[in-house]
Amino acid sequence: MLPLNDRVLACTRCPRLVAWREEVARTKVRRYRNEPYWGKPLVGFGDPEAKLLVVGLAPAAHGGNRTGRMFTGDASGQWLTAALYRAGFANQPTSEHRTDGLVLRGAYITAAVRCAPPQNRPTKEELQACRPYLLEEWNSLDPRVIVALGRIAFDAVREIAEQRGTPLKSAAFAHGARYDWMDSRPRTLLASYHPSRQNTQTGRLTEGMLDQIFTTAREILDIERSC
Ligand code: SF4
Repeated sequence: MLPLNDRVLACTRCPRLVAWREEVARTKVRRYRNEPYWGKPLVGFGDPEAKLLVVGLAPAAHGGNRTGRMFTGDASGQWLTAALYRAGFANQPTSEHRTDGLVLRGAYITAAVRCAPPQNRPTKEELQACRPYLLEEWNSLDPRVIVALGRIAFDAVREIAEQRGTPLKSAAFAHGARYDWMDSRPRTLLASYHPSRQNTQTGRLTEGMLDQIFTTAREILDIERSC
C-alpha cells in the first residue's frame, strides 16, 4: 500500500469536494488572482513525533486550498499558529505559505476532511469517507493530547476514540471541555471553538481562550515527560 500522504494526495472519494476544490483553484478570488492555487487534498502537517494532535474542520477555500498546507494563508491559520507559538509548539507566530519556514515542535495539525468544502460544510458522507485517514494518523502518532477545533472536529475525534474501543458518547462539545480516558495509553481530548473569523471577530473566541487550551495541552505533556 502507498504511504498515507500519497494516498491522500491522490484521493477522489468525494466527487462534490473534488469538483469544488478544483473549481475554486481555477476561478480564484480577486486578491489572489495572480497566485497559483493548490486545489488538491491536504496532508497533515507537523512533527512526526508529535504527542499533540490538533484537528480542524477542513481546508479553507482560499487558505489551505490555495497554499497547500493546513491552516496556512488565512486568518484561522494566523490565529492557530500564533497560539501554538505562544505555547511553544511552533518556531514562529505566522503561517503564510508552504515555504515560510514554519516548524511545529511536538504538534501535528490535521483535519476532519482534507478537501475544501462549499460553505465550510462537509456532508456526513464526506466526513465518513475521510475518517480512515484521521484514524491512520492517530494510530501512527499515538497522541497523548488531542485538541479539537470546533464541533465537527470534536465529533470526528469522538468517533475515532469509539472506533478504538472507548465510548465517549456522553462527551459534549463546549469550549474548554476536557475528557480524559485510557486505552493503550492515557489520552485527553480538549475542545475549543474553531478560530474562524466568525468566532474571532465576534469575540466568541479570544486569544486568551485559545491560549488556555494550548497551555493545558502543554501542562499535560510536560507532566508526562517529567514522570
Ligand atoms: S475529503 Fe478526504 S476522502 Fe474526500 S476526496 Fe478529499 S481527501 Fe478524499
